[in-house]
Amino acid sequence: MKNLVERFLRYSKIDTQSDPNSATTPSTLKQFDLAKLLVEELKELGLEDAKVDKNCYIMATLPANCNEKLPVIGFIAHLDTSPDFSGVEVKPQFIENYEGGDILLNKELNIVLSPNDFPEMKNYVGNDLITTNGTTLLGADDKAGIAEIMTALEFFKKNPHVKHRTIKVGFTPDEEIGRGADLFDVQAFGADYAYTIDGGELGELEYENFNAAGALVTFNGRNIHPGFAKNKMVNSMLLAMEFNALLPANERPEHTTGYEGFIHLTKMQGDVEQSKIQYIIRHHFEQNFENYKQLMSLAVDFMNQKYGEDTVVIQISEQYKNMRKMLEPVIEIVENAEKAMLQAGVVPIKKAIRGGTDGARLSFMGLPTPNIFGGGHNFHGKYEYIPIQSMQKAVEVIINIAKI
Ligand SMILES: [Zn+2]
Repeated sequence: MKNLVERFLRYSKIDTQSDPNSATTPSTLKQFDLAKLLVEELKELGLEDAKVDKNCYIMATLPANCNEKLPVIGFIAHLDTSPDFSGVEVKPQFIENYEGGDILLNKELNIVLSPNDFPEMKNYVGNDLITTNGTTLLGADDKAGIAEIMTALEFFKKNPHVKHRTIKVGFTPDEEIGRGADLFDVQAFGADYAYTIDGGELGELEYENFNAAGALVTFNGRNIHPGFAKNKMVNSMLLAMEFNALLPANERPEHTTGYEGFIHLTKMQGDVEQSKIQYIIRHHFEQNFENYKQLMSLAVDFMNQKYGEDTVVIQISEQYKNMRKMLEPVIEIVENAEKAMLQAGVVPIKKAIRGGTDGARLSFMGLPTPNIFGGGHNFHGKYEYIPIQSMQKAVEVIINIAKI
């Protein structure tokens, strides 16, 4: 498994941060630096058709080494790292045989990775951890996923007696800015189903995510000199506050977990004349999700009856959907992943994602794609770390899924 860690380090040192303010794909040209290296390495591993397209999507095939006609499976990971934290000059550090205490990431800056803040670190006593030096993110999200897929491919190259089905590999740009699935050519990829290796802790298996919409609500007031405002002024900011008070106070992100949804106020701006507020609406269950949208529309109707037509205007835009609907008809692909984990001695942790994934988008584009752990923790920041043993388990799980 020396190669696994070496690969991960090689990839993590290449800065591939994506940029939400860029309109191009890839959003940053530096993502090609890693992509080109990966194409070379895929070819060295015998995946002769490996190539990167002009938008920085890599695709490659490891053909089956048996005659049985079996579904083609894909493994997908993303090249980019989060725009939220620097990925320049990542300098990983190793903690061998972690003893369970604080880890000093950076002496000068006094940055400490502590189980007091991150109690799940205690699960990895005795493991070997890779951490940051406190000044960058680590990039285990999702370069661990890439390294794990590459190492599984190497296993099949070195063990030709192990029979496996046709494996498609896809590495995508710009996942962190929500565009990873945009230009993914499902047809060209040619897999019947796929897995993103983009989850966190050991055992994570995800095939449900939120249904998601956004709402922009505009409040039209009437500004008059306050000295002469009686029975004339309508203060749009107060209308906005009244509207918000009509929404369920407990169904907000800070009060919800698991399968509980929410309506989340994300932005407000306004003056007496006009105010605009924005919400995101999230729920795993379609009916509850529809109920949220209807509730907001009813609140708008109520306000308009009280204050006059078009005082309040709502625009709701759909964002993404729960992939569970697309995965239920092919639930065996989730079960196969569970079996593959159990074979590797990993207890599957099935969780509903409180967000979205590229896999959800791909599932609705015709490629059912649940998400499997890559092994890392504390993504998108300086406290990111990954146990090497979790990475090794991820490789085993990929191998178990692919072999016959
Ligand atoms: Zn990721």
